[in-house]
Amino acid sequence: MSTKYIFVTGGVTSSLGKGILIASLAKLLQARGYSVTIQKLDPYINVDPGTLNPYEHGECYVTDDGAETDLDLGHYERFLNKPTSQANNVTTGRIYQSVINKERRGDYLGKTVQIIPHITDEIKRNIKLLGRKGKYDFVLTEIGGTVGDMESLPYIEAVRQLKWELGKSAMVIHLTLVPFLNASGELKTKPTQHSVKLLLENGVQPDILVLRTEHDLGEGIRKKVALFCNVEEKSVVQSIDVPTIYEVPLKMKDEELDVTVLNKFGMIPGKEPNLEAWTSFLKKHKNPKQTINICLVGKYVELADAYKSITESFVHAGAVNECKVNLDYVHSEDITNLNVSNLLGKYDGILVAPGFGHRGIKGKIEAARYARENNVPFLGICLGMQIAVIEFARNVLRFEGADSTEMNEVTKYPVIDLMEEQKGITNMGGTMRLGAFACKVKKGTKLYDAYKKETISERHRHRYEFNDKYLKEFEENGMIAVGQNPETNLVEAVEIANHKWFVGVQYHPEYRSTVLKPSPLFVGFVKACLSK
Ligand code: GLN
Repeated sequence: MSTKYIFVTGGVTSSLGKGILIASLAKLLQARGYSVTIQKLDPYINVDPGTLNPYEHGECYVTDDGAETDLDLGHYERFLNKPTSQANNVTTGRIYQSVINKERRGDYLGKTVQIIPHITDEIKRNIKLLGRKGKYDFVLTEIGGTVGDMESLPYIEAVRQLKWELGKSAMVIHLTLVPFLNASGELKTKPTQHSVKLLLENGVQPDILVLRTEHDLGEGIRKKVALFCNVEEKSVVQSIDVPTIYEVPLKMKDEELDVTVLNKFGMIPGKEPNLEAWTSFLKKHKNPKQTINICLVGKYVELADAYKSITESFVHAGAVNECKVNLDYVHSEDITNLNVSNLLGKYDGILVAPGFGHRGIKGKIEAARYARENNVPFLGICLGMQIAVIEFARNVLRFEGADSTEMNEVTKYPVIDLMEEQKGITNMGGTMRLGAFACKVKKGTKLYDAYKKETISERHRHRYEFNDKYLKEFEENGMIAVGQNPETNLVEAVEIANHKWFVGVQYHPEYRSTVLKPSPLFVGFVKACLSK
């Protein structure tokens, strides 16, 4: 079959969950045996979110091929259990960069370079790139932002053109909100009508409308929306609030969203989607036998999205262990030597989060010390691992003032130091050690217990590394390098041998955790916390 293109746009407000909706639809199509991929188009001018503060757009997600991407790609991978790549996330910055590079090369042969057709052509090229060679039956593309935003206009225009070019092989799903007015006790469809009108002004007639709502819509509302927005009643789909995002695929199945999509493409829906593994995960997730409390020590704790992949990894690892993981965020700047036992004493496990810069470092070091001295299960991720190393150097090896050169360039003991290949880099965007690298795991360690493999592959995003000049002293005193890069010997994981479970990893295990393949390291950490 020829590749079919599905576009998802959003209206009325942001944060309606376009990412989850598109991932859920893709999941249903995948569960029917189709090959699918999901792409996100982001209307901002940054080339990628790598240079964005997490307060802006939440976590920066990293793919195998080292692309720094929008956190929605994390949802796509967690739902589909398939890796994404640079091609799955395109920003306005990237589009313009590529057009401007072409202009400088003279590719436009003296023509005036304009939004239409040059920018829209570049957008269309990036969408169709994924459908090339018939690799996928369905390419689903999420248009970031909300219809009506000035910066989304070129994307909507590209969708309009593609709908025209591709005819029956393209469709648009528009996600909107039906608010409930408490005072009058009514659900309101006007914002949806206006939002569809805005799309129509731009020449795009949506094929399916998905309505986010807190209350059941009932037939009346569906009929009304269908009438006002030129869609069939069957194509008005309700998306009611659910306790977990992982239930959305099942809700969309109940609404027969996948069937409606297939019918609109003129395809015959075969047997029901196979969601056995998915529902068995959900069953475990919703019926935990015990509860554990873990704290995440970080500095972006006001914003849950800043640590999205970590929180989701705990959902996956909790289900495997049939327990509920209560994850509390503790601000590292609130932790001091005096209050650490008060703040962290009640937890079954401590996680020190990734991060950059020196803000909140002291509190993170206290958290690592507390976990080490009190035999509390500990997982340090990236900066969290580096913190564990600094703490061990200062308090066990007695290296006074030991530090990472990220925090103190002139420390006497640079136990964490800039990687050789990072020296001389001045550009900040896309220049870290990024993407998947192999790691050799030492047998007889907690790390090996978790992965049960001698060679693993995990994703990275950092500039600094463990300074192996000090490795011997660390190992003689009980902190062991348990994971190393097979080619460069870079230390990728450390643990404390005589501790219950104390592991620090330079890589980000959270990026690889999916519903069907939870991260072995998170599973191991949760297990250790359970037996505290
Ligand atoms: N700032 C540290 C580095 O660049 C850690 C990065 C991270 O936690 N992702 O090495």
